Amino acid sequence: MRPRSLYPLFALLLGCLLLAVLAGCGGGRRLISKDQEISMGRQAADQFERENGGQSTDPAAVQLVSRIAARLVPVTKPPDYPYDIRVLNNREINAVAFPGGRIYVFSGLIKHFDSNPDKIAWVVGHEAAHVARQHAVRRVERQLGYEAIIALIFNKGDAPQIAGAVASLMLLDYGRDNELEADRYGLTYAHAAGYDPTAALAVLQGFQDLQKHKPSNLEIMFMTHPGEDTRINHVRDYLKNQGWRGAYYQP
Ligand SMILES: [Zn+2]
Repeated sequence: MRPRSLYPLFALLLGCLLLAVLAGCGGGRRLISKDQEISMGRQAADQFERENGGQSTDPAAVQLVSRIAARLVPVTKPPDYPYDIRVLNNREINAVAFPGGRIYVFSGLIKHFDSNPDKIAWVVGHEAAHVARQHAVRRVERQLGYEAIIALIFNKGDAPQIAGAVASLMLLDYGRDNELEADRYGLTYAHAAGYDPTAALAVLQGFQDLQKHKPSNLEIMFMTHPGEDTRINHVRDYLKNQGWRGAYYQP
């Protein structure tokens, strides 16, 4: 074997070693560290916030969400993420979570659900689950790769485009399994925080109705995938198994 033919192998080994050192991932299953996850999420979220209406100045909406956050965040631990839950001044009926704990509840969603604390709490719980269960960071890792994440963190080169790509990924649904898991964790968090978890049924029903009347509308990105009945049934089964009842579910 000529030395030259070994070069790709050496390059590969060196690359792996560098990645392992940089990411502290020797043997770990995650490519990026938690600090990098949080930093990456903040960079992407800051840009998303600037480009999509900024933070709401409506005192009632801000107070509603900060009260929910104060009760909900403690029950999501572990894992320990620095949650920062904000109201986005945006008419879409939506919510979105970024890796590391930044969450936006759109003012349109708060309005659509009549500022109902139980309903909003489950939505926030659902989004927090995408952070806590690392759906968000894993998707970015998979789709954009380590180099892009590092470029974003250090604000190099294509950082604005990468931040935009992260935000686009976060606005897509996560696929059936992750969404059902987030639904379940949302119920658990809402219940543990003292909210009525059965409000989840009203939220899912609300999105289903929206989808019927405004198909393919951007406003319903929060729940765009088909099979909404699956989620409603799944939530109902979970409530039943836990023995939880409330204003929106009486077995
Ligand atoms: Zn989701």
